Amino acid sequence: MPRPLLIRGGHVLFPDGTSRIADVLLRDGRIAGIGDAVGAAAAVGDEEIIDAGDQLVMPGLVDTHRHMWLGSLSASSSDVTLFAYARQVNEELGDGFTAEDVYAGVLWGAVQAINAGVTTVADWAHNLGSDADIDANLRALHDSGIRARLYFGGKASSSGDYSRYQAQTRRLQAAHAARQHNNGRIALGLALRGPSMATPAENAEEFGLARELGLPISLHAGMAGLPGAVDQLGHQGLLGPDVNYVHANEFTEQEWRQVAESGGSVSATPSVDMTMGLGTHPAVGAALASGVPVGLGADTVAYGPSDLFTQMRLALAAERSRANAEPIARGEMPAELRHGHLAMLDLATRGGARVLGFADQVGEIAVGRQADLITLDLSTPHLDSFDNPVLAAFLGAGPRDVDTVIVGGRILKRRGTLTRGLLEKARQEVSRSRARIRERSL
Ligand SMILES: [Zn+2]
Repeated sequence: MPRPLLIRGGHVLFPDGTSRIADVLLRDGRIAGIGDAVGAAAAVGDEEIIDAGDQLVMPGLVDTHRHMWLGSLSASSSDVTLFAYARQVNEELGDGFTAEDVYAGVLWGAVQAINAGVTTVADWAHNLGSDADIDANLRALHDSGIRARLYFGGKASSSGDYSRYQAQTRRLQAAHAARQHNNGRIALGLALRGPSMATPAENAEEFGLARELGLPISLHAGMAGLPGAVDQLGHQGLLGPDVNYVHANEFTEQEWRQVAESGGSVSATPSVDMTMGLGTHPAVGAALASGVPVGLGADTVAYGPSDLFTQMRLALAAERSRANAEPIARGEMPAELRHGHLAMLDLATRGGARVLGFADQVGEIAVGRQADLITLDLSTPHLDSFDNPVLAAFLGAGPRDVDTVIVGGRILKRRGTLTRGLLEKARQEVSRSRARIRERSL
């Protein structure tokens, strides 16, 4: 167990959206106390002190949909639609990935996430062919220190080789169980193709496997031009509270009702949703209106930004724009504005935790929760505010403003620098991997 930490004197963001100056005590990987300077300090003696004066102390961000292996291919594709993207990135660059490339991509992807204040990530892993690839993906998540749910898809799944996929999934579950010394930091799930990319019979088989093994499911659904996914799962009796729908841009009202009634959740990826043309706007507003748990995701750093502050700001702008369109079309100024910045911050913290099944673990600063939190340096001009550090962070924060990142009580970033030599190690791995990828694409 890491040494107890006392985060002293920061502006703490509380679950009700207010912030005030307080101390936060972390012990045994959990939040052990929150109080004023005297109260929390008196409760300990052997703790390491982190001075958080002029910093915002907030829950670590939760990314509910990211393809982590793409870390090494960041900013490799732009200005093309989904199918051209898939050809450029998944096929031309990703097809030849070795286990070493998977390790480098996922580790570098984790560095990008941690550096940007993401403490929990859903890793949608679909570029894994061999058992060695699968082990490399799992090992990179472990080595990075991030908290994760690894949704396993892999090449056996995408090529429809069910018996191989089944065998690999069972093997992964055993390998994962053997590594449980990590205090439950990594959880598993299945990344399934869903009705947009698999036949009804294949879906029934794969959903059956997930349920037999007790693994939650995540699938891409509701993108423009690929309608009816939820409807079809409903006909097959496959809907359930264990299903996470990624994108969901074009769900019909009936599909939203079906997802709500079955207890499913949604991951919105505002940047990719809008710039790649998966929908005219992200599914955030529709999910909130339907009472469906919703979180945010960066999706692919090959095409979009790696930080969730950008996703929050895009989500708010998109939802406001959508709601405002009606009165504006009538020639009126909107009488009121929908949604707010706190609701968007909530999506990237508590909302994401709910989507990933970690609601009682992470997503808010409260006693008993996992010690997953971040601090933002408020001393820079762009995060200055007239007494509202939370709004300042929402409006202006980016990865460089993240001073400290803590996961399960372990410090992964401190004074703006990643700890434990992680950056240097990952940089070496990714530079060797990129050389191999370039060599192969000649
Ligand atoms: Zn995706």
